[in-house]
Amino acid sequence: MSSSSHISGIHLDLEKTFGAMSECVIITRPDRRVLFLNRATEQLFGYSLTELIGKTGEDLYANPSDFETAGKIHQEAAHNRDGQKFVMELKSKQGRIFHVETITTPLFDATSKHVGYLLMGRDITDRLELEAMVENSLQTLEDAIETISEAFALYDSEDRLVTCNENYRKTYPDSAPAMIPGKTFEEILRYGLDNGQYHLGEGSKNDWLQERLRWHREASGEVLEQRLGDGRWLRIAERKTRAGGTAGIRTDITELKESQQKLAAVYENIKLVTNSLACSIVEVDAAGICTFINEHGAAWLNACPADLTGTRLRDRYSEEMQAVDEEGCRTALAGTPVRRELTTGFQDGTCRDVEIDFTPKRSDTGEIIGVIIFTKDITDRKNVERTLAELYQVTSTRALNSDEKISRILKIGCRYYGLPLGVISHIEESTYSVKWVECPSGEIEPGLTLPLGDTYCSHTLNATGPLAIAHAAKSEISGHPCYERFSLEAYIGAPILVDGVRYGTICFTSHTPRRDEFTQTDKEIIRQFSDWIGTEIARQRDHEALLAVQARLERMASVDDLTKVLNRRAFLERAETEVARFRRTGNPFSVVIADIDHFKSINDTYGHATGDEVLRRFAATLSHALRAIDVLGRIGGEEFGIILDNTRSEDAVLVCERLRKAIAETCSLESMSHKVTCSMGIVTASLADIKFSNLMQRADLALYDAKNNGRNQCAVYHPSQAFQAEHP
Ligand code: GH3
Ligand code: MG
Ligand code: MG
Repeated sequence: MSSSSHISGIHLDLEKTFGAMSECVIITRPDRRVLFLNRATEQLFGYSLTELIGKTGEDLYANPSDFETAGKIHQEAAHNRDGQKFVMELKSKQGRIFHVETITTPLFDATSKHVGYLLMGRDITDRLELEAMVENSLQTLEDAIETISEAFALYDSEDRLVTCNENYRKTYPDSAPAMIPGKTFEEILRYGLDNGQYHLGEGSKNDWLQERLRWHREASGEVLEQRLGDGRWLRIAERKTRAGGTAGIRTDITELKESQQKLAAVYENIKLVTNSLACSIVEVDAAGICTFINEHGAAWLNACPADLTGTRLRDRYSEEMQAVDEEGCRTALAGTPVRRELTTGFQDGTCRDVEIDFTPKRSDTGEIIGVIIFTKDITDRKNVERTLAELYQVTSTRALNSDEKISRILKIGCRYYGLPLGVISHIEESTYSVKWVECPSGEIEPGLTLPLGDTYCSHTLNATGPLAIAHAAKSEISGHPCYERFSLEAYIGAPILVDGVRYGTICFTSHTPRRDEFTQTDKEIIRQFSDWIGTEIARQRDHEALLAVQARLERMASVDDLTKVLNRRAFLERAETEVARFRRTGNPFSVVIADIDHFKSINDTYGHATGDEVLRRFAATLSHALRAIDVLGRIGGEEFGIILDNTRSEDAVLVCERLRKAIAETCSLESMSHKVTCSMGIVTASLADIKFSNLMQRADLALYDAKNNGRNQCAVYHPSQAFQAEHP
């Protein structure tokens, strides 16, 4: 029992030292039999000291094999004279199993003899559970972040990597080797930088790094776009965590960026297109402030787009344009698109015909937020319309004759083309002659002829269609003789066909170059001109031919076939003209009737043909002897009427005597044995009675006298004869 009392003595000391300790304390002999256990041990295991004292404590191990293992650890500790730590599953008297972390320390006495073990243990079940829980939740977090399609990384408050998902590594393949939990953000960033992970742009590596770090530390949640070395684009959103760390998500926006760039390129193209269109494109907001204007539109207002955006364009418009704009915008803002036409001046000093479309501009949600104003310059079209209308008007009017119409057309053409010279030529062989001309300077006049080769028209004539040169000096024609001779810079010409045959050309030209090239429409217009003029010349030709026929017919109707002097009807018509003239001027004229003597016997003696020949000679003799202004006509078989213009009675007698003598000398044929003579009756018109039929009657009375007095003589009418005639 001494040992027992010895033990209890020791026990008292042990109780004093370890009894109240919160850790479990067990002291054993070298053979592991229990000497002492404190209250914490009693509580944890459910055994009292007396139950275990002297026993090995084998029952305390949950797994029987652990008892052996623990024994070896004890021995090792004794051997090394040093404490050993181990964790094992132990179990209470009630069967509860728990993890205990144990430190075994070998005990030695003063003689260095191994006297036992001190085991100090702590139940770490809770801690282990907690650790497991933490481990678990981290696993859950990692599992969770792996399911995120974006790249995710979590850094702690010291900016060390806590965790990241696989996508994070894949997103930054060149930085991935450095993505070890515990590494700082900066270390990972630097690693990536050195391996070409990032696209640096213009600045230095260090500038880039500092900027990136600043952004990372701020982690405001604001989105940062990052370009990688391989051309990809990332969108990075970083936020501070509650624990003071940083959570970051990266999204690959390469495609988005590319489509943005494409869109930008498309927009650039649209801008290019809108700027190359000869029209004005404007967008205004609901208040009428310009939000967009293309370059053409701005140029019309004598400004550039940057100056105009943000201003009220309406203030720069002409009064009539302001009114149209106001009404158009108001209607469009109310939801109805409208189109208006207008002729007005612009700030660039040009007057234009414009067609304006006002279209409502809507937001994504369909709400009307402004107006798109598309203004087309239709001056050219309007000019064409006006010109064609004028051409139609000129060609269809009866108020102008052919020459006047052609002159008008030249004027219309000069105005349409903005060229001062207009020429219509007739070309025969190699001679170019000017037929009609519009030329304010007077340098070219109708009738001017040129060698065809010296004119541009030589080309036009051979061309199938119109020829147009806006600036001769800059064209292949610059060495042409026409350019050398007349220095004509602008030229548009077309051949003229008359009844399908080349007649000449129509051309418009100028000494100064034309600002704009000729258009297809310009060529169509000159074709219209040449077509019409060709038709007009043909018509004119037909008309002239008709006039000639008419004149011939008229002549045929008024001339006596046999003697070629006026017939009776024509003579009497001419007589009326003489009467009218006499009324107007009061200049007297005389009327003579000449009759061949014994003509019947000439016929009878020599034959009718000889009679005819005598008649011809008689008429020819009178014709030659008379003045051009006198009138001669055959008024009967062998009776001729003569009107002596501006001739009084005495003079008429002298003239008739001369005629009578001439007849007597010339009218006989060689075959005839006697002379052909004639008798004449003369009367002079008086203002008292100028009816021509009366004059003829009186001349006839005088003639009757001459015959009665022996023929071959002239007799003047005396008023007494009238009495005799009326009262024979
Ligand atoms: P007087 O001296 O009195 O005038 O006698 P005359 O014989 O000349 O007069 P009369 O009137 O009797 O005869 C005119 C003749 O002229 C009659 C007619 O046969 C003829 N005669 C009329 N026309 C022509 C014609 O065209 N040719 C020819 N050969 N004879 C014609
Ligand atoms: Mg007669
Ligand atoms: Mg006679």
